[in-house]
Amino acid sequence: MMEQYFALKAQAEGALLFYRMGDFFELFFEDARIAAGVLDIALTSRGEHDGEPVAMCGVPVHAAEGYLARLIKAGCRVAIAEQIETPEQAKQRGGSKALVARDIVRFVTAGTLTEEALLEPRRANLLVAVAPLRDRVGIASCDISTGRMELEDCAADALDAVLARLGASELVVPDDWPKDWPDTPDETIERPRASFRSEDGETRLKDIHGIATLDGLGDFSRPMLAAAAGLVAYLDHAGRGKLPFLLPPVARGTGAHLAMDAATRASLEILQAQGGGRDGSLIAALDRCVTGAGARQLAEDLSAPLADRRAIEARLAAVHHVHGDPLLRADLRALLRQAPDIGRALGRLVAGRGSPRDLGQVRDGLAEARRVRDMLAASADLPDLLQRMSGALGGHAALVDHLARALVAAPPTERQQGGYIAPEYDHALDALRETSGNARRAIAALEAKYRGETDTPALKIKHNKVLGYFIEVPAKHGDKLMAADSGFTHRQTMAGAVRFNSVGLHEEASRIAEAGAHALAAEEAHFEDLVGEVTARREAIAATAAALARIDVAAALAERAAESDWCRPEVLDEPCLDVTGGRHPVVEAALARSAERFVANDCTLGPDDRLWLIGGPNMGGKSTFLRQNALILLMAQAGSYVPATSARIGLADRLFSRVGAADNLARGRSTFMVEMVETAAILSQATPRSFVILDEVGRGTSTYDGMALAWAVVEAVHEQLQCRCLFATHYHELSRLAETCDALSLHHVRAREWKGELVLLHELARGGADRSYGLAVARLAGVPKPVIKRAKAVLDKLEKGRAQTGGLAAGLGDLPLFAATAQEEAETAPDPLREAVETLDLDALTPREALETLYRLKAQAAETRN
Ligand code: ADP
Repeated sequence: MMEQYFALKAQAEGALLFYRMGDFFELFFEDARIAAGVLDIALTSRGEHDGEPVAMCGVPVHAAEGYLARLIKAGCRVAIAEQIETPEQAKQRGGSKALVARDIVRFVTAGTLTEEALLEPRRANLLVAVAPLRDRVGIASCDISTGRMELEDCAADALDAVLARLGASELVVPDDWPKDWPDTPDETIERPRASFRSEDGETRLKDIHGIATLDGLGDFSRPMLAAAAGLVAYLDHAGRGKLPFLLPPVARGTGAHLAMDAATRASLEILQAQGGGRDGSLIAALDRCVTGAGARQLAEDLSAPLADRRAIEARLAAVHHVHGDPLLRADLRALLRQAPDIGRALGRLVAGRGSPRDLGQVRDGLAEARRVRDMLAASADLPDLLQRMSGALGGHAALVDHLARALVAAPPTERQQGGYIAPEYDHALDALRETSGNARRAIAALEAKYRGETDTPALKIKHNKVLGYFIEVPAKHGDKLMAADSGFTHRQTMAGAVRFNSVGLHEEASRIAEAGAHALAAEEAHFEDLVGEVTARREAIAATAAALARIDVAAALAERAAESDWCRPEVLDEPCLDVTGGRHPVVEAALARSAERFVANDCTLGPDDRLWLIGGPNMGGKSTFLRQNALILLMAQAGSYVPATSARIGLADRLFSRVGAADNLARGRSTFMVEMVETAAILSQATPRSFVILDEVGRGTSTYDGMALAWAVVEAVHEQLQCRCLFATHYHELSRLAETCDALSLHHVRAREWKGELVLLHELARGGADRSYGLAVARLAGVPKPVIKRAKAVLDKLEKGRAQTGGLAAGLGDLPLFAATAQEEAETAPDPLREAVETLDLDALTPREALETLYRLKAQAAETRN
């Protein structure tokens, strides 16, 4: 046995090996230790290997799903080794001692799950493969629980942003992939480079979908096809040659979506809050979907908002329609709530892992879809999108009718016991059931008869797996039945009971067994037929599932908008952002829980006033204002109503958000370094159509450095990028920029000191901030009085000094304009590294600043070399 085990373990490629033994999956050696630790189950041992006891643990096959789920969550991969013949077959093949043949039938990994119990209903589960090809990278992503597949490509330096958008459960890369790629998720699998050939990708996709050319599906680049090749080859491997359900791939064009990089996603907390959970994220504040598929669609919409005005308008019109008709909305949502997840049920059925319950879900889901369609049909002036979705909901009448006749109302997940095919569907099956039912009644009659004959009221006819049917009497009555002429044959003596057989019982038991086996086989054959019928219509069913999800999203967004009185945004091509009464959806909801009121604020960015510099005290609401406007733009482009009284949103091509210096030391970069790297990305990527929010840029370094950088960044955004930008800063010296930048205006969050206490009004007003209120905020935060008092003394002294020299920004009076400096830079191109070293004031640096400076110089050196 060990020999067979080691052979299989060698094929498992590092995955935990679930080795099937009867009713258990057993794990051995290190696998057993890992699994016992994760699952918190007993670690035992079995026999010896090389003189050492072999560690072992096991999980019952019928409960394996739950254990698998926990192992996968803990980051493990599992290879399932099944018995591929019965013990009888093994005996026939190799004599009584022959070992049952086993083989790995499937790899269970985070990205290749289809089981209901292992998947989160409201989250897509993406498997993603990437293939670098010259200067581009192809990306293939697929959710095999529903069969959706998408191909795209991007420049190598944009890959992080794509991976951040996708949030893969598992990533497949070629084995020559650079090991130190910064943002590869933990679940990364290396596969041979040879399985990422674009020609193979093309051939495999054509084979899978039975088409002669991919042209009809879209425009696929070589890198896309190479990634598709890697993805399909991996699926082949994980399913041991059995491919899951794959829909025809969709090519994702560049420019169709609002681009956001990983840092922007993280800081806007779109699908996940900074802490990692869903609580506090945008989606948590928005999601009123009543189906899992709807929630998954909404998550996708929010991670990839559109950049095409017509597509956005189509979504908004759908929301508008359902918003304007509360009755329709309530009815639709009540119907949708009943609809099972047919996309995922279909995925399992097509992958050959389906159950009668999945068939039942397809039946019920399609029936529900039909009702949704009828309801939409009765609604006048249906907008385009809903019309199209409604068109995808019907056409399944024959299938639904067939499934309804064939299946019982609530079919089970297991097939072993049968009982899922409805009565009257198949008369032969009914007859078999009748036979076994009669025999069961006959057995009940026998029991009564034997009780009378032996005068033993305690006599019982029982059934168990090992003995089948048997007669049992308490031990003290055993002798009566033992008598040679009793007609009973002894089978087993237990502690308190004796068990017997009889000819009559044997006959009836055989009738039950035989009829039962035939009935099971008949049900099995019907199951296969029904699965075949569903599978044959898979694309139409998948389209229905997608349409239901889209309708759920529209109804959910309408519901959410109605709840908090949100408005339909007007989407325009000109670069404006004109929001009145804007609110932050997450902060507002959080405040509402503690019965506090959110103060709405306006934002009016336009071509002549496109950069707002926002000052004011800490905690005054600057970050909140910045983010709320970024979120409003994002939501509008995703097709949602927005938390405002009115909103005119100029379409953006990219959205950037940099909030504070997030502590990212874990990744080996100092906080300030991260801040600068991220700021650099904006300066090189933003276009006049982008929208940028910058919060306290420069905060991570010393005052002078920070202020100088903030200054230069604002100028660059204003002069070069010329995009819409909200810039929050506590350096009120930056106000002077208003003198030279004509599309820049000054704003501040209002605060008042009242009886020595600071009152934050969270209200935005025009004009620069007069002071920074740092001490007042510190007092608010509970810094002890003596410290505040001392700080006040120091501050007075400093301010006096500053007044004499003309202030921190006093020396800036004759600073040449940004454009002039940029020009000069281009002409003389001095060595920036040298300059940076020369201007260092070593004595003025703290050890920490020195380290940060070294990081910065090192990176600068690397950059100059490139
Ligand atoms: P800043 O960036 O100016 O330090 P924040 O935006 O982080 O301030 O806001 C601090 C806190 O103030 C928030 O957590 C929130 O509780 C509250 N707040 C912010 N904006 C508003 C608002 N418009 N209305 C009500 N409370 C607000």
